[in-house]
Amino acid sequence: MTRPGKPQELAIDGGQPMITKAWPLRNTYGKEEEEAALRVIRSGCLSRFQGSWGADFLGGPEVRAFEEKCAAYFSKKHAITVNSWTSGLTAMMGAIHLEPGDEVITSPWTMCASATSILHWNAIPVFADIDPSTFCIDPRSVQERITEKTRAILAIDIFGQSADMVALRAIADAHDLYLLSDCAQAPGAVHHNQFAGTYADIGGYSLNYHKHIHTGEGGILVTDDDDLALRMQMIRNHAEAIVEDANYRDISNMVGFNFRMGEIEAAFGSCQLEKLSGQVARRQEIAQILNDGLAQLPGLVPPLVADGNTHVYYIYGMKLELNELSRDRAWIYEALAGEGVPGIAQTYVNVHLLPMFQQKIAYGKAGYPWTHPGRESSVDYRKGICPVAEYLNDASYLGLETCVHEMSDEDLDLIVAAFHKVWRYCV
Ligand SMILES: *Cc1c(COP(=O)(O)O)cnc(C)c1O
Repeated sequence: MTRPGKPQELAIDGGQPMITKAWPLRNTYGKEEEEAALRVIRSGCLSRFQGSWGADFLGGPEVRAFEEKCAAYFSKKHAITVNSWTSGLTAMMGAIHLEPGDEVITSPWTMCASATSILHWNAIPVFADIDPSTFCIDPRSVQERITEKTRAILAIDIFGQSADMVALRAIADAHDLYLLSDCAQAPGAVHHNQFAGTYADIGGYSLNYHKHIHTGEGGILVTDDDDLALRMQMIRNHAEAIVEDANYRDISNMVGFNFRMGEIEAAFGSCQLEKLSGQVARRQEIAQILNDGLAQLPGLVPPLVADGNTHVYYIYGMKLELNELSRDRAWIYEALAGEGVPGIAQTYVNVHLLPMFQQKIAYGKAGYPWTHPGRESSVDYRKGICPVAEYLNDASYLGLETCVHEMSDEDLDLIVAAFHKVWRYCV
């Protein structure tokens, strides 16, 4: 028989956990999506894409309708749907005329696809460090990484707020670089009165099931540039087969994929887009409750929202001031998880430390694309190149997932209480 623990005792020491409920996954869809999916099924058309230059090259009616809604919503000339945001990133990088060996500067504090999208075109990811207050790429570090091979900057709007696109735009313009945005985690966030993801030459959003809104799998690219839009539409749909019929002259990187979205997903997406602002508003309420509830805890730094930004809290990203705490992060993480706090995480990602970059093994075993003849790359991926991202990951970052589970106000009160309980043992 297990001893009934005292309520004030930590669960990791045998006490009662603060939270014992099961956490259902957040569900963003309902009757509207069901009806939309059924409408598509009954229409007899699950996709209308054809990989030939003609009326159906750009997809069926639901895909086009969803793209029009996205373009209007984000105030961009073009919105292009894809079957995942990883596909979107890959199409984006193909569109910008990269040569093998060209460099694209990005952040290591992101999901790996941000960097592999660069490698897919035999270009070289170069990692700049992040800003310790926003977790987004630090423009000063970007500036230091620019070489004569740099072609683009890929900013990541990590956790739900925009990178400093004003500073990045100034750097990009001064060096004639494309400015790109991976806004997978920040749809609906605002940056200086514009939606995050829309300051870049190309930006876009993920529609996978744990993002703010979703279509199961999917992604949306946005741009104002007609040629970049056309190149991404071509890469989405077997570019090489249609460049001739399309009379498109610059055929470099017109190596196409099948990145096409289905009609059911597009119909679903049109419904989901209408729910985006509500999903964002609820995440912001959740963050406000956490901010208020956790404010008094010493050594715990809540998410900082940069001037000109709103934050949509895909993740509520915190930091520990370890000199104010008597325990290390691993202990705090175990104690919070033991109390039943859902979606707590003690690491994020340092992409530059993945084996692929440490060993420079991507295409084949001989180090391609870093060994591309005439454009050999000695770019440094060793631990130490991004001290801010590394220290956060190694010691001081603490995250709470706010897009994975449904959380009521009562749930949040329990989560706050669990933090307070744990903090009694670590200050
Ligand atoms: C989710 C995510 C992706 C990948 O999106 P998928 O739709 O899952 O392919 C890329 N970058 C970031 C920052 C993400 O969070």
